[in-house]
Amino acid sequence: MKYTELGRTGLSVSRLCFGALTIGPLQRGLAPEEGSKVLLRALELGVNFVDTAEMYETYDHIRLALQRFAGRGQVVVATKSYAYTRAGMLESLERAQKGLGLEVIPIFLLHEQESSHTLRGHWPALEVLLEAKKAGIVQAVGISTHHVQAVMAATAIPEIEVVSPLINKTGIGIQGGSREDMLAAIVKAAEAGKGIYAMKPLGGGHLLGEWAEALDYLLPMDHIHSIAVGMKSIAEVESNVAFFQGRRDLPRPQVSSRQLHIDYWCTGCGSCVAACPNGALELSDGRAAVALHGECVFCGYCGASCPEFAIKVI
Ligand code: SF4
Ligand code: SF4
Repeated sequence: MKYTELGRTGLSVSRLCFGALTIGPLQRGLAPEEGSKVLLRALELGVNFVDTAEMYETYDHIRLALQRFAGRGQVVVATKSYAYTRAGMLESLERAQKGLGLEVIPIFLLHEQESSHTLRGHWPALEVLLEAKKAGIVQAVGISTHHVQAVMAATAIPEIEVVSPLINKTGIGIQGGSREDMLAAIVKAAEAGKGIYAMKPLGGGHLLGEWAEALDYLLPMDHIHSIAVGMKSIAEVESNVAFFQGRRDLPRPQVSSRQLHIDYWCTGCGSCVAACPNGALELSDGRAAVALHGECVFCGYCGASCPEFAIKVI
């Protein structure tokens, strides 16, 4: 496994980052015990970087894996919160410390920023993270985003040290510009010293059929320090680790197609429509419906926002 310096954070991370969304209830729905075994295998094979979020509900899975890996090496966990107030972020911080069983959170991000405007709106929450960094509770602070404009806005803010942007071979899911626009913004952010770790390299599952080509598209890019790949089985972990170690003679991981399922008991409240970062949903005849099929990256964010548990990625 290759390791890189994550910008100027002082953190050394594996080029393969374990994306934990897939093991949790928004996707595969593995129980914490079962999910922890998948992550533990990745840690044993040299992956030292884990990406999660408060919304993913995978803190229990990660805590169990970290407990079992204790004494065998440092693990860099990045988490995220949608909090935009001081009180909200203080709660998120405490929830992460307790949930992950960590006194110090290596990386804490503002989840899914869209532009300089949303960053301004989240400033009270960002201030809490910066204070936590000063107090030694957080090691590095940053943002995650699907939006080109948010990468550009973060580049201009010295306090932001880590950016997790959406980037992949076909550009699926990128908001506010093309794949080239996003790459140009990423290069500028990296040159400004930000640590960059890519999300959705497989387009949330759309590119699973061209898994090797999609990863080979990002792997040569030095400006991208690490790549978060969602993994939900030990077989997938082993394939991805081997691929990142340079093996190209591997069978492709089993491809299981994903789809968005909306149940009949949807009340049409619109919460999922507002939560979708890609504008892929609409209300039609009083129910949620997919408006733009090509735009859904199966992130599961809509499911997390549904009070009726009526929408999910299956
Ligand atoms: S429809 Fe749901 S799963 Fe698809 S991109 Fe939007 S929030 Fe994510
Ligand atoms: S959040 Fe749930 S109940 Fe509300 S519109 Fe979306 S699917 Fe329907």
